[in-house]
Amino acid sequence: MASKNPSGKGKNCPQCGKLMELKFRPFCSQRCAQLDLSKWLNEEYRVPVIETDDYDEDEFEEE
Ligand SMILES: [Zn+2]
Repeated sequence: MASKNPSGKGKNCPQCGKLMELKFRPFCSQRCAQLDLSKWLNEEYRVPVIETDDYDEDEFEEE
């Protein structure tokens, strides 16, 4: 029954370290996949989108 060694080929879920499930690879479950996704989204939202480089230079030149 246990002819396949899961620890030999299987990768581990980057989220929790459990054995990866092909269904949800590279994660072990949908929950871990969603966790990672929300992590990405959060990081994206954290990055400030406002770039005031041009704005600042413009103001300086006008004065
Ligand atoms: Zn996991």
